[in-house]
Amino acid sequence: MKLGLIGKKLSHSKSPEIHQRLFGLQHIDGTYSLLEIQPDSIETILSKLYHDGYEGINVTIPYKIDIMPFLTKISQEAVSIGAVNTIHLTDQGFFGFNTDYSGFSRSLDHAGIRIQDTDCVVLGTGGAARAIIQSLFDKGAASIIVVSRHPRSKPAFCKFLEQIGGREIDYDELARLQTGGVLVNCTPVGMYPKMDDSPVSEDIVSRYGAVVDLIYNPRDTIFLQYGKKHGAMTLNGMYMLVAQAIGAEEIWQGKSISSSVIEKIVKEMGE
Ligand code: NAP
Repeated sequence: MKLGLIGKKLSHSKSPEIHQRLFGLQHIDGTYSLLEIQPDSIETILSKLYHDGYEGINVTIPYKIDIMPFLTKISQEAVSIGAVNTIHLTDQGFFGFNTDYSGFSRSLDHAGIRIQDTDCVVLGTGGAARAIIQSLFDKGAASIIVVSRHPRSKPAFCKFLEQIGGREIDYDELARLQTGGVLVNCTPVGMYPKMDDSPVSEDIVSRYGAVVDLIYNPRDTIFLQYGKKHGAMTLNGMYMLVAQAIGAEEIWQGKSISSSVIEKIVKEMGE
């Protein structure tokens, strides 16, 4: 199988390692290449890759939205989220999906974090946040509050949030909020190399029963350390990262892959 990732700067990507580990476990003869492209080639890149023998492509920053007009069909969850991270290149056309969405959902299930009827708070309004919010909504969250430094400043995000009945607040209002549900960090705050930062204070984190960070480097952010200290269930972004890659492979290979494979790769990558 000839697979790859398109994006602008890819030198730090962990995707080749995850896919190579999967090829090893499945005894598949596959390649997964990093393909750095410029914005002016976005229109022709999929046809070119298809003719070069590629069957599957992942898409990352800044092309997750820009690639959408060049797809034959886009899955329902990717349309709602407004971004595609996985493309299946076939002789029937180019099909787009969002496996950040399913990867996040699987990571919650793996950690035993219940969303149904739970009040959820999401920090950040970027591309990752949209997949997470859609996933929380589809899992039956009682309410979804999104925290931004500049609430209601992005019209497309406001429209998206309105459709699922979510509410946007600022960090001052978050400090006044008393809730015991799930708190998810979808900001880059606390990520390597600025690992001493946390998006919110210990006092705020201590109010939640489950604390989730999409960051996987480091595995144990200050944000998650606050949660652990106060007895919350905690989950970092490594399982989601591996699960979104496995979700893409399931689409390309046309078969489901056991959760035990995800767990094995997560362990090999240092949880
Ligand atoms: P992004 O677009 O760069 O940022 C997300 C949002 O965070 C921004 O829209 C912004 O929202 C807020 N933000 C940014 N800088 C901030 C700061 N200094 N202080 C407070 N808030 C800030 O990032 P993204 O692509 O959505 O990704 C977010 C995080 O998720 C990153 O750490 C990324 O590595 C991680 N991620 C992990 C996975 C995984 O598989 N584990 C997948 C995707 C992403 P406001 O302006 O509204 O405040």
